Formats: sequence, structure tokens, C-alpha cells
Amino acid sequence: MEDKKKTLTEYEKEISEAQEMEEANTHKRKVRSFKRMLMVTFLVVCAIPITLCMFLMVKMNRLDHRIENLVDRVEEGKNLVSTNIGLIDESTETMTSEQMAYGDLGKGSEGVHVALTDNGDGSNKTTDDAEATTEAASDVPEQTYYNGQKVYLTFDDGPSTYTGELLDVLKENNVKATFFVVYNDDKEAQQYYKRIVDEGHSIGMHSYSHVYDQVYASQESFEEDVTKIHDYIQEQTGVDTHLYRFPGGSSNQVSKVDIQDLIGYLHDEGIVYYDWNSLSGDAVDASLTPSELNDNILGYVHANAGDSVILMHDLQNNHATIEALPALIQTLKDEGYEICPIDDSTKPVQHVEYKGDK
Ligand SMILES: [Zn+2]
Repeated sequence: MEDKKKTLTEYEKEISEAQEMEEANTHKRKVRSFKRMLMVTFLVVCAIPITLCMFLMVKMNRLDHRIENLVDRVEEGKNLVSTNIGLIDESTETMTSEQMAYGDLGKGSEGVHVALTDNGDGSNKTTDDAEATTEAASDVPEQTYYNGQKVYLTFDDGPSTYTGELLDVLKENNVKATFFVVYNDDKEAQQYYKRIVDEGHSIGMHSYSHVYDQVYASQESFEEDVTKIHDYIQEQTGVDTHLYRFPGGSSNQVSKVDIQDLIGYLHDEGIVYYDWNSLSGDAVDASLTPSELNDNILGYVHANAGDSVILMHDLQNNHATIEALPALIQTLKDEGYEICPIDDSTKPVQHVEYKGDK
């Protein structure tokens, strides 16, 4: 009987323990779901807006970059026009001296025609004019005018995702070029700085940020930008480069500082800036085909009295530039031009000259 009582008490005890446990579990469940609710509230109130903010900031940054690029293109477009005007003057002089030397207008006049009509979208006109003048010049010995002139292929804005391919094409065609580079900390890009130098090309500065508002904001910001890209190139390649190309050229209209002051700084630092007197228009109009790009370039090169510095771009939206290269190189070689990389001894083409020493 006593045993039975005991068992009953134990049984009751077990029941009450089970009830307590059940209550504790319910409490835990409540706490857990409260925590979950708190987490969800935190996510909704904090994390989502933060993520959204970050996303918008990245987006804004990209848009900023695109605006900068567009300004760049506009500036280069303007330079294209001023280069054209320069070419008209230059080629008038060329024609006179060439006429005296050869007693004929010949191919000199072909270049003039092309330069006058070509502004990036007149590729048909360029071809027509070239054909018309070739006929007129058919009694002139081929390529007489081009022997000994040098041509410098220059690529701005890299390194990009295409730099490797661009370097491959230059190697296959046994040609050395000049790369005016900007800062890029991408792992792949970093290898390209080194490859450019290792494969015998020249490397020059084209600003650290390439953001016009920053580069040209003040004398100090310009100097800081030059120092940063100079040191970055040296860190990546070991080269202490003295070659510079202004973003938008020395004739750009966006600098808030007098360009003479910026040139003065470069001069004091022993840095030489190189503009261009020929261009493909690859950055002005991304829809130009490889043969249109080459027609544009050859139009300028033929019109130049002296050596030609050709502006092209190493950008990821510019694959046509790479596709155009083999034919361009072949034509230049066939016409007797010497393709060289820019070095300290190259006579620079400059849209704006330094007035400091005069
Ligand atoms: Zn540029």
C-alpha cells in the first residue's frame, strides 16, 4: 500500500516536472521568436537602408565616372577640330615645300583632302576623296613622301580588360608603342603595367584619377595627381617615367588652373608632355568600324609634314581599335613609315607650348 502511495507521489512529481519543463520550453520559444522578431526589425530598419545606400553610392560613382568619360570625349572631340585646323595650316606649308622638292602635288594633297573632310563621321567622304586623289597622283612614284617619317602609336586610359590582347597584337606585328596609363588597382591590370614595360613599350602618365574635376581643380591637386601616378608606375614597373599626356590634351578647356602653370610644374619636374597630331576617333565615336578608324588615322598621318603621334585608346568599350591595328601597322610599314615608341629624345607634339622660358 505504501509502495503504491510512493509511486503515486512520484508520478505526481513527474507530472509537475513535465509541466514545468513544458512551461520553460514555451518561454524559450517565446524568447526565440522575440529575438527573431528583433532581428527582422533590425534588418528592415537598419540593414536594408544601409545596403540600399551602398548600392546607390556605387551606382553614383559609376555615373560620375561615365560623366567624366563623356567630358573627356567632348574635349578630345574639340581637339579633333583644332587638330584639323592645325593640319590645314601645316599641310599648306607641306605642299609648298613638297611641290618644290618633287615638282608635283602628289600624295601630299591626298592627305590634305582627307584631313579637311574627316571629323570622325565622314568616313565615306574620306574614302571617296582618297580614291579621287589617288587617281590624280597615279603618275607619282608610290610612297615617295613617307620614307623616314616616324609614327608613334599611343594608347590612353589603360590598362583595361583588353590590354593583354592589345599587347599580343603589337607583339605579333613586332611593333613597339606608347601607353599613357592611369591608376588601376585591379590584379589583372597590375600585371599589364609590368607587361607593357617588359615587352619594350614606353609607359607614360595620363593622370592618377582621370577625373577632370579632381585633376584640374587646383595647382596643388594637379601636382599631387602627377606625383601619385608617377610613383604608382614606378612601384608597379620600376620605371621612373618622364612622359606625360594631359587628360583631354594640353588644349583642354576644363582646367580651372591656367594650363601654363601646370606646364610650368611639369617643366620644373623634367616631365615632357605629348599631345597628338593624328587620331582614330575611337573615343569620340565608339561605333566606328576598324577600317573607318584606320582611314581617319591615315588621313592625318599622310597630311603631317613631319612625324605623327597617333591618339588611340585602351578602353574596354573599344575593341575595334585592336581589330584595326594589324591592317594599320601593315599599311604604315608598306608606306615606308617607321613605327617607334616615344622616348625622352622624341620631339613632342604639343597643342599648347610652354611660355615660361620666353
Ligand atoms: Zn584619357
